[in-house]
Amino acid sequence: AQPVEDAAADLLEAALAEADGTAPVEAAVRRRTFAVISHPDAGKSTLTEALALHGGAIGQAGIVQGKGGRRGVVSDWLDMEKARGISITSAALQFVYRDHVVNLLDTPGHADFSEDTYRVLTAVDSAVMLVDAAKGMERQTMKLFDVCKLRGLPVLTVINKWDRPGLEALELMDEIAEKTGMTPTPVLWPVGIGGDFRGLLDLRDDSYIAFEAGSGGATRTVWTRMGLDEGLARDGDVLATAVEEAELITSSNGRHDEESFRAGRTSPVVFAAAVLNRGVEQLLDILVETAPPPGDRPTVDGAVRHVGDPFSGQVFKVQAGMDSNHRDHVAFIRVSSGRFHRGQGVVNARNGKVVGTKYAHRVFGGTRTGVEDAWPGDVVAIVNASGVRVGDTLFEGRSVTYPPIPTFAPEHFAVCRAADLAKYKQFQRGITELHHEGVVQTLRSDMRGEPSPVLAAVGPMQFDVVSHRMAGEFNCPVQLEPLGYQIARRTTSEHIPALSRVPGVEVLTSLDGDHFALFPDRWRLQRIERDHPEIVLDALAADS
Ligand code: GDP
Repeated sequence: AQPVEDAAADLLEAALAEADGTAPVEAAVRRRTFAVISHPDAGKSTLTEALALHGGAIGQAGIVQGKGGRRGVVSDWLDMEKARGISITSAALQFVYRDHVVNLLDTPGHADFSEDTYRVLTAVDSAVMLVDAAKGMERQTMKLFDVCKLRGLPVLTVINKWDRPGLEALELMDEIAEKTGMTPTPVLWPVGIGGDFRGLLDLRDDSYIAFEAGSGGATRTVWTRMGLDEGLARDGDVLATAVEEAELITSSNGRHDEESFRAGRTSPVVFAAAVLNRGVEQLLDILVETAPPPGDRPTVDGAVRHVGDPFSGQVFKVQAGMDSNHRDHVAFIRVSSGRFHRGQGVVNARNGKVVGTKYAHRVFGGTRTGVEDAWPGDVVAIVNASGVRVGDTLFEGRSVTYPPIPTFAPEHFAVCRAADLAKYKQFQRGITELHHEGVVQTLRSDMRGEPSPVLAAVGPMQFDVVSHRMAGEFNCPVQLEPLGYQIARRTTSEHIPALSRVPGVEVLTSLDGDHFALFPDRWRLQRIERDHPEIVLDALAADS
């Protein structure tokens, strides 16, 4: 496998180096930066790995050991992830495909980490919505789709697991239309019902892509493209049925149209079996051909930063403790404009401080490689970037600030105390770090009369991460005592006295200075909204 990986690495190195005279705009045109959204078990890790196989980033699918002895995946690496068989952290997979640099940003699969996924979705230009053919549109897929919609991200749809019996293809199209409001416009229609996946009808040129029986799995699927006549001679009735179905769906939904896809009105659809590498290469083709490249980005003051402007980027993720041998702090930046060059000093727009970029890396799974250059759409991991927080804008030249990354409304709250009171310093350091990484939000109140903060999370598993990392990394085991609140609303300081007088309601202040009113249930919230319309109670972003 090694020579394949080396060749792919060389290709990527060459693409990232570009020529010295290359304009960032030219580099941007050849970038595709996307994320996969799906419900757990739809096959996201499998698809990621299959894409990595086609990009040559790994020589063979399924070579990395993990997840309780079953076939492992390169994107799962943290101890806790392995133990739980879920993916908590996100990283970026980068490879060259058809002269394009493909950046696939990994998203955590578990709903409790949807806030991390949300942050990743601020760093991509499109999303692939992965749907299990037997299950259709599941809850978590819908939640993440809503976030894409909110951000105006174009969404491609992949119906996965077509090698197994599932729902009917036309039925799936109806369900997608009904639940997302997007019109699905198939590009690759399946030949053969679920469980008998013979090939794909390519609606771009009405040809037939016939899979070689028995191929695919750990290696690429072997396929042959042929005209419909030849296909009908080979797969007669089955292909005829697919042609008929495709006619039905295209006459009602139309064919894939790039403009309406990019506007979020339609979603091109591909059928696949990621585990057999079927449809994966075709998906990459479609991404390269039709998904949007990085474009100009809106800034906080309503202007735009052009891709061709000097370097700028936004931190969408901060992670410490990635390398258990030495404590480190890694900031993941999506390049939005210009050329990033390792070693150049960049300015953090939040505090005007210069951030060193000597330790710039590309990180996927457990591997890190040094990065010399990066271009719009690429992700750079800067090691030892302490003081850099999620949402920060880094830039060179003319100053720029990107809009803050919105947060989910927390729904779980717990008081956090050091198990050993003598370890107060470690406790403070750890909690502050985890807050700035966005692992949880830390809230305090003078009214509580004790130094222990209240932690707020979208999902309870975030608390497990806190316990795990406080003990392992900061050498300070903690005790968490759950509080009975279920809803948080952002408020302003002048309303604190009035809210504090309401029985059962408490106002806390986050480390960032935001004030949150916590409510035990929505009845209490609704009553205050009704009785005191003057009180500012903002639902947080993505909560609506
Ligand atoms: P994730 O939770 O979305 O990352 O899902 P995984 O990639 O871990 O896949 C969940 C399960 O579905 C695993 O047992 C995979 O082997 C299986 N799986 C993934 N893709 C396919 C597919 O195309 N066909 C079949 N039959 N199984 C698949």
